[in-house]
Amino acid sequence: MIWEWTHFIRQPEARPHAIFLSDYDMLLTEHLVQGVDVWINTPRRPWEACGTSGMKVLVNGGINLSELDGWWAEAYSPEIGWALGDGLEHGDDPAWDAVEAEALYDLLERDVIPEFYARDGQDIPTAWVARMRNSMASLTPRFSADRAVREYTEQRYLPCAKAYRERAADKGAEGRKIVDWQDALEAAWPALKLSATRVETSAGQHLFEVEVYLPGLDPAAARVELYADGIDGHSPIRQEMERVGQTGNASNTYAYRTRVLAVRPATDFTVRVIPSSTSVAVPLESPRILWR
Ligand SMILES: *Cc1c(COP(=O)(O)O)cnc(C)c1O
Repeated sequence: MIWEWTHFIRQPEARPHAIFLSDYDMLLTEHLVQGVDVWINTPRRPWEACGTSGMKVLVNGGINLSELDGWWAEAYSPEIGWALGDGLEHGDDPAWDAVEAEALYDLLERDVIPEFYARDGQDIPTAWVARMRNSMASLTPRFSADRAVREYTEQRYLPCAKAYRERAADKGAEGRKIVDWQDALEAAWPALKLSATRVETSAGQHLFEVEVYLPGLDPAAARVELYADGIDGHSPIRQEMERVGQTGNASNTYAYRTRVLAVRPATDFTVRVIPSSTSVAVPLESPRILWR
């Protein structure tokens, strides 16, 4: 790929416009992000994994003009930069590449370049500076290592450290309970069964009912959920079903039910069982899942 690229940029028509920077590292990056006014990133969606370089440009006063993919799909709004694409995937369709290339040149010609050269009496590009300040003010607090490390620490590492101390206290009494709970769950899980799901639709609601056979398992150790994927413009739905009692003849069999608004077809939904515990992280420490 590098050979193809260097070969391509040696052609006379490409030569003045493109370069290949080898050994991209933090030192080179430092110079790039400090010296750039507009950071243009044009991956084909969905191939931008993140776009960290666009974030590094922010604190240096650079403005992003990028495909609505990776971080820019989350961060973009019109007052802070420019966007390419419609946020959908178009594969490697050359017609779509042409549409986006045209859109890039239009943006540069009609918006980006005029704004950069529109100067006041003191040679300040006032609209440009306003956009730069909006970009820095609204994006740097969200898209920074400072924010990320703080969130990991507060939401993950500190609770983990606390849980460890609780489990280790008293010669590991709590930890031992958790291992027993996990062993009981693992022993019982292969025998778990879900009945067929019944659904009744009335008054704009679906009522779902199911029976779950939980042999040798405290029903509190299982959580039964109604689940639907996020498709056709709908958000995913994950809703706990309520245990409404033990069913007639079979012990260890419990009935569950729940209602949802009938805005989506009942066939979008399925039932599943996952482990449930207040002291164990599900699914991290107990990844079992039984789908209907
Ligand atoms: C920022 C950075 C990257 C990531 O760049 P992207 O454009 O986000 O892929 C890779 N390597 C180095 C050295 C960097 O500083």
